[in-house]
Amino acid sequence: MSPQDSWPFVLLHGGGVQLSKQDFSKHPETVDRYLRGASRQERRGQIESARKKAVRRNLEPKGPRKKGWDALGEEAWDDMGLDANERIMPIDENDRRKDLARAVFAPPRETELGTSMPGTDHPETAVRGTVLTVNSGLCTVETGDGSPLPCTIRSSITAAETGFTNAVAAGDEVIYTPGVAGAGIIEQVLPRRSALTRQDVFLKHLRQVVVANADQVLIVASWREPVIWLELIDRYLIAARRSGLGAVVCVNKVDLAESLAEVDGAMQPYRELGFEVIKASARTGQGIESLRQTLEGKVTVLVGMSGAGKSSLVTAVQPGLTIRTSEVRAQSGEGRHTTTQAALFRLANCGAVVDTPGIREFGIAGLTRRELGGYFPEFARATVCRFADCAHMAEPDCGVQAAVASGAIARSRYHSYTLIYAALPL
Ligand code: GDP
Ligand code: ZN
Repeated sequence: MSPQDSWPFVLLHGGGVQLSKQDFSKHPETVDRYLRGASRQERRGQIESARKKAVRRNLEPKGPRKKGWDALGEEAWDDMGLDANERIMPIDENDRRKDLARAVFAPPRETELGTSMPGTDHPETAVRGTVLTVNSGLCTVETGDGSPLPCTIRSSITAAETGFTNAVAAGDEVIYTPGVAGAGIIEQVLPRRSALTRQDVFLKHLRQVVVANADQVLIVASWREPVIWLELIDRYLIAARRSGLGAVVCVNKVDLAESLAEVDGAMQPYRELGFEVIKASARTGQGIESLRQTLEGKVTVLVGMSGAGKSSLVTAVQPGLTIRTSEVRAQSGEGRHTTTQAALFRLANCGAVVDTPGIREFGIAGLTRRELGGYFPEFARATVCRFADCAHMAEPDCGVQAAVASGAIARSRYHSYTLIYAALPL
């Protein structure tokens, strides 16, 4: 085993982001502390005591606020069924929790840009950067010249204050002091535009921010090998919609298609719904220029089945960039877990892609059957069903089923609807 194999922090290969043990060796105490997991336990302790305090005061944050979507007007949070844990929470919910947590747990912080930052001896050297990865409280921050800087997090920034189990996530814009000897300190996390969250691996009743400040989700599906799975695309579209993030569908491996017309045929319903659909082949280069343009200037979260070709596409868009990260293991009271970390990779065209190894199949848990139809906007075009509460499954005089029969609604989309419907709780 090489020394790097035993190194417990995420190591990013290529893409100009490569940290070695040496980067941290100048900080033996810090490294030692993290190696022993002390910091993580401390943070867990802080979160737990903050939570208990809130419970005692009967102030535990309420469940997610109900948020309407189109005509849905229903609770649209929580998880999808596939991988259970993931969801995207828009910033207003995050802000609400932050405000509550702040009011309960902490005095107001003087943390606006340009004001003094608590806990730092070097506020005059503080600069702004983007968090590339976070692992057990150790971050890599993209510095002004684009190079990654290992950073710890100022202890005054507590997770409890943010309402999540982690204070800092990949994609966060932060103020950091470069520090000395090649390691910096994050002093402040700037307000987020969006937050993709999931259930915390250890504290199941709490949520963890996986990606901050994403703009869109790129749903990568392969035409063959593995064969295209439209239901998964439809689930991702629901998840993106619930998050308020844009979505683009990229069908990869079109070199394996008999004809591009068959790909176009299958994807036509998505085009009709207004989604951009990119036909791509990382192998032949087809569609790569379109993909590059779609990624330009945006923070894009990559989702899709393993093997669909996400990393191949990123490499095709930017030769030399590889998004594969090594496996990271974390220790908890419940034993050993493999945790998966999101990692942000800057593109040359001012965009960034975020690879989220653990949330490639993020779920729709929490969605109810009654809400599902609202996520199929084309159903609204159908004639009114006989029953106001029609589930469009086997009811008589159902406008949706009639529209499917007449071809006005795509059979494949309706098929996904019935599969997802059956998978959702009553
Ligand atoms: P990921 O798990 O989604 O990141 O998928 P990878 O990028 O690792 O690709 C999985 C496999 O699909 C690899 O063996 C690639 O060589 C292959 N692959 C990726 N893109 C294409 C493509 O456009 N056409 C074909 N035929 N194979 C591809
Ligand atoms: Zn109906």
